[in-house]
Amino acid sequence: MFHFVAKIELSLGWVTSKQNLTLLRGLSSSLPFGVLLQTTVKHSIVFDGVGLHSGSAARLVVEPAQAGHGIVFRRADNARDVADIPALWNLVNQSPLCTRLQNEHGVSVSTVEHIMAALMGCGVHNAVLTVDGPEVPILDGSSVSFVRGILACGLDVLEAPVWALRVLKPVDVKRGDAWARISPAEMLLIEFDISFSDAAIGTQKKRLNMSNGSFVRELSDSRTFCRKADIDHMRANGLARGGTLENAVVVDGEKVLSPGGLRHSDEAVRHKMLDALGDLALAGAPLLGHYQGSRAGHALTNDLLHALFDTPGALEWVECDTQLAAKLPGAGVHWGEIPQVA
Ligand SMILES: [Zn+2]
Repeated sequence: MFHFVAKIELSLGWVTSKQNLTLLRGLSSSLPFGVLLQTTVKHSIVFDGVGLHSGSAARLVVEPAQAGHGIVFRRADNARDVADIPALWNLVNQSPLCTRLQNEHGVSVSTVEHIMAALMGCGVHNAVLTVDGPEVPILDGSSVSFVRGILACGLDVLEAPVWALRVLKPVDVKRGDAWARISPAEMLLIEFDISFSDAAIGTQKKRLNMSNGSFVRELSDSRTFCRKADIDHMRANGLARGGTLENAVVVDGEKVLSPGGLRHSDEAVRHKMLDALGDLALAGAPLLGHYQGSRAGHALTNDLLHALFDTPGALEWVECDTQLAAKLPGAGVHWGEIPQVA
C-alpha cells in the first residue's frame, strides 16, 4: 500500500496529456523538485470476455479509487463485507499457471497478472477492480486490451505522492532448475530466460528497463502460450476450458498453431516478462530493482516477494521526486506506441 503524507502544500499545475502520462506537480517554490502524484482512472472501464480456466463469461470493471487505496479486486457475486481482495503479495494463493489472490474469508480471484501488469505499466496506482466471478477475463491472452482501455480513459491525479520500494540487498529463490533474483538498481529492470524443447519456443532471453514506456511498446501485446501436448492434460484437470487458439499461442514442436502466428519471434519470453511485471506489482508499490527470472513462473516470483519482505533491511520506502518519476514503469507511456494487433 502507498504511504500517506499528512499534508503537502501543492502550488503548481500538473502536466498531463494522452501522449505523456508522467504526472508531476511542483511543491512550494522553496523546494526545487516536484513529486510524482498518485493516479486513478478517470471513469469506469468495462472489459468483457471469458475466464481462461472456467470458460465462463467474465466481466472486469476498472473503477476510480482514492489516494492510498491501492489496487483492490472486488467479487460482485459475494456479500459486500467479504468481497474485497487487495492486490498484495501476501494474499497470493498458489495455483497452477496463473496468479490467484484470496482474502481471509476464502474469496478468491484468478488470473490477475495481465491486468496488474497493465496498471503498473500505465502508472495507475489506485483502482477498484470489480469482477462478476472467480476469474479476470483472458481477452486475447495479453495485456494490450487493458492498456488500450486505460489509456483511452485517461488518468486523474490525486493529492498524494507516490512512494516506491527500493531494493537494498540482493534476494534470490529457487525451485528445481528455476530461479528468480532481485538486486539493487536505479530503476525496475526485468530480465528473463526460458528454455523449451519445442523448437517454436526454444531458448529465449531478454532484458528491458521498464521505464520509457517499454512495457506498453515491447511487452503488452505478447500472449500467454502453451504446448498442444499440455492442453489435454490441463483440460483433464479442469483448467484452460476457455483457452482457444485466439487467446493463447499454442505450439506443437516447431509449429505455431494459432492463426496469424507469432506477434514477436520471442513472444514467449516477452510474455514471461509481462507476467513478472504483473506479479511484482503485487508488492503494492513500484519496485526499484533488477529482477532476473530463469525458467521462473508465478509461484517463484511470489516466493521472491515473500523473501524480499521477510529479509531485514532488503527494502526501503522512497518518495518519488521528478528524477525517480522518470524511472518508473508508467513514465514515458505514449498512446501511439500501443501495438496494433487484430
Ligand atoms: Zn500470463
